[in-house]
Amino acid sequence: MSAEFRARIPALPLPSPQRRVPVPASAREAVTAPATARASMRRRRPPWVLMYHSVSGCTDDPYRITVSPYRLDRQLRWLRDRGLSGVSVGELMRARAAGRGAGLVGLTFDDGYADFTDSALPLLHRHGCTATVFVLPGRLGGDNAWDELGPRKPLLTADGIRAAAAEGMEIGSHGLMHTDLTTADDPTLRRETKDSRTLLADITGTAPDGFCYPYGTVDSRAIEAVRSAGYGYACAIDPGALTGMHALPRVHIDASDTSPRLFLKRLLNPVRRKPLPAAPPEPVDMTGPADTGEPVDTTEAAPAGTRPAAGRNEGDAVGPVDTTEAAPAGTRPAAGRNEGDAVGSETGGSR
Ligand SMILES: [Zn+2]
Repeated sequence: MSAEFRARIPALPLPSPQRRVPVPASAREAVTAPATARASMRRRRPPWVLMYHSVSGCTDDPYRITVSPYRLDRQLRWLRDRGLSGVSVGELMRARAAGRGAGLVGLTFDDGYADFTDSALPLLHRHGCTATVFVLPGRLGGDNAWDELGPRKPLLTADGIRAAAAEGMEIGSHGLMHTDLTTADDPTLRRETKDSRTLLADITGTAPDGFCYPYGTVDSRAIEAVRSAGYGYACAIDPGALTGMHALPRVHIDASDTSPRLFLKRLLNPVRRKPLPAAPPEPVDMTGPADTGEPVDTTEAAPAGTRPAAGRNEGDAVGPVDTTEAAPAGTRPAAGRNEGDAVGSETGGSR
């Protein structure tokens, strides 16, 4: 192309620098509202909290509350291999409130067995985990006398509780004596919740923020007692419509939980458990529709093919995870306790 020809080509207008066009406030809301709603849904998603009890090589285990150190090591490795970090429930809930809960799994150890410091702690450290230990300050150095079938297992002493706290574990209350709060009279209810918190504050120097309902049984009266005793959260097992900060769902873990079962339990957790109620609306947020705070039935969100069939429990739906037959006679949860219809082995270990 000659210079003369090029000179005869009319100059094409260059694209003008992109101008910032003011976006009407109404349009901005349309874009940001879904993101806000998504963040809110993430915070309400049922947390995945694993429920352990005893960690030992004991094979006499009628209540399915024991995992061997080898099995716990494998389970913690399974979490880590999937980019998940096991943390105490207090840490989990604080992280979720700050929008940093992704990849965190709550780890809890009920009853405060003495084997926690000997067997569980070294493995938790090995995998970079923390956990919450729910102890019984009314049975310091005692044993699990509430388990009729035994075997008897020693519980942490005050020194053992302090040692666990010194190793970075969260100490929570499991009540004083391992009493079913739904059948306790008012003075007992107060002792189990308020007095156990005071005793633990004396032992560790810090009033515990977390409570755990013995046997996983919970009702609105027990929730109110726990809340007024000053606890910031409480763990149940499958609290259904009562789900909230003072009735957090958990998943029972036992010796049979190998990789496929953990995979299924993780998959089914948001299907089986109800989301947490919505937090009170921010004072400045006056744009969105009012949130009633009513729990949403998560079965609507079940991925195709994973929703349990009507009238069947989750264990039925996933076959290999169903271990309901393993619960010994007389130890099955009473009707209405909810944990019986959870993923198979969640029936066992509701101690
Ligand atoms: Zn217990």
